[in-house]
Amino acid sequence: MGKPTGFMEFQRLSEQYVPVPERLNNYREFVVHLSDADAQQQGARCMDCGIPFCNNGCPVNNIIPDWNDLVYRGNWQQALDVLQSTNNFPEVTSRICPAPCEAACTLNINNDAVGIKSIERAIIDKAGENNWVVPQIATKKTGKTVAVVGSGPAGLATAQQLARAGHSVTVFEKNTRIGGLMRYGIPDFKLDKGLLDWRMAQMQAEGVTFQTSTFIGDDANLGKVANHATQTISPKKLQKDFDAVVLAGGSETPRDLPAPGRELKGVHYALEFLIPQNREVAGDNKNPINVKGKHVLVIGGGDTGSDCVGTSNRQGAAFVTQIEVMPRAPDQENKPLTWPYWPMKLRTSSSHEEGVTRDWSIATKEFVGENGVLKAVKAVRVEFKDGKMVEIAGSEFDIKADFVFLAMGFTNPLAKVLDAFGVEKDARGNAKANTDGEDCYQTNVKKVFAAGDMRRGQSLVVWAIREGRQAARAVDEFLMGSSVLPR
Ligand SMILES: Cc1cc2nc3c(=O)[nH]c(=O)nc-3n(C[C@H](O)[C@H](O)[C@H](O)COP(=O)(O)OP(=O)(O)OC[C@H]3O[C@@H](n4cnc5c(N)ncnc54)[C@H](O)[C@@H]3O)c2cc1C
Ligand code: SF4
Repeated sequence: MGKPTGFMEFQRLSEQYVPVPERLNNYREFVVHLSDADAQQQGARCMDCGIPFCNNGCPVNNIIPDWNDLVYRGNWQQALDVLQSTNNFPEVTSRICPAPCEAACTLNINNDAVGIKSIERAIIDKAGENNWVVPQIATKKTGKTVAVVGSGPAGLATAQQLARAGHSVTVFEKNTRIGGLMRYGIPDFKLDKGLLDWRMAQMQAEGVTFQTSTFIGDDANLGKVANHATQTISPKKLQKDFDAVVLAGGSETPRDLPAPGRELKGVHYALEFLIPQNREVAGDNKNPINVKGKHVLVIGGGDTGSDCVGTSNRQGAAFVTQIEVMPRAPDQENKPLTWPYWPMKLRTSSSHEEGVTRDWSIATKEFVGENGVLKAVKAVRVEFKDGKMVEIAGSEFDIKADFVFLAMGFTNPLAKVLDAFGVEKDARGNAKANTDGEDCYQTNVKKVFAAGDMRRGQSLVVWAIREGRQAARAVDEFLMGSSVLPR
């Protein structure tokens, strides 16, 4: 513990944002990381409280009190070593993780939590600026080959860990670039995609091979789910050519809203808007959806909806509304009741601060159009009675909308892909595999493993990294009989 009285002396200092009018002019990141001196002072706020709930609250179990102390003392390189020992992609989590660690921080009981995420970012950004992040090349090759299907955080974490254990790993990705939803879902203003290229270069130096535009399955017709593949490889061939296969294909089936008028021009799934925008920013084709001067309605209140709000405002929408069927959460959590768990409370993102009208307890009745083009949405206020949602009589109203983005989550992975491998599904349609025990992360199909959103359902990047790391250990044990990879 760096400074026993630090938590009493120093207030929490949050990262600053570039002002709204300036950041809306572009798609660049706008969060300014802490200076070294500020990060060191924030590290001093950690109480090293004996039972580090933060370490348990963090899905990759980052050893937070240790790096807080090292940063406080200015031992940045050692702090990086500790951070890298548990987290493959801290440059990502320190930007877009919701930070359940901070909810679990002991200081959060009656004060502001330690700014863990901002210290994590200060460490990894400093490491990047100083070229401290170097490839960790395996000294001995095992001669075993592993195919990873999907290049999101789960697939990449699996691949990196297995390459470091000496296996020859190939990552197959149906889209043109590596990164999964980190590349194509999360907008550039939240996560600079140069960071993904930086990490890929490290992984390539460690021996990972990336094969993009390649769909693994028997039927590449995925309807509205993005697929930029120019070639298809059958699961049979993959299973024949590799000693183990890890399915990390995410949970890509979007939840639909099959109200009358759903077919109107202007009603889209969120990713039909966000993926082309990410591609446009990367210099690929222009986004065919442009909401400049238009009324936008985002249906769904989570991260995806918030990203649609931020992107619409950057395109110059005239008016952005976001509605949610669930009631408005309380502004503040009841800490004695919720700590150290993730509390239910109203979340206002940086995209919300940039301009949006938000409303809750609203259900969509109908999409209304003229000549096949969306003009408005008929909505109604709802309440929950005995756990059931009921409409409030006489509360119907119209919302003007030229575009609707459906951001109500994702129901399950692509069933076609799991079926092509013969992988059994759980009740929610995810790949069925345990996370502990001897056969952890293994599906019912011999030598086929599953991790990330494809196994656990729609979740977070940090959970995908955890699963990727744990699945890598399971594969290593399967191939070699034992493993020294961390659990
Ligand atoms: C818009 C949006 C914003 C989000 N924002 C956040 C956030 O701020 N913070 C956060 O923590 N989480 C966020 N999430 C959730 C997070 O991105 C996911 O939980 C995480 O990326 C899941 O990782 P994954 O590796 O399991 O799958 P994914 O990232 O979905 O990657 C799966 C990859 O597999 C590929 N693939 C699938 N099937 C095949 C196949 N048969 N052959 C070849 N390739 C295949 C897909 O093309 C995809 O690239 C967001 C999600 C969305 C949609
Ligand atoms: S990965 Fe997320 S939960 Fe873990 S320390 Fe970083 S911000 Fe906290």
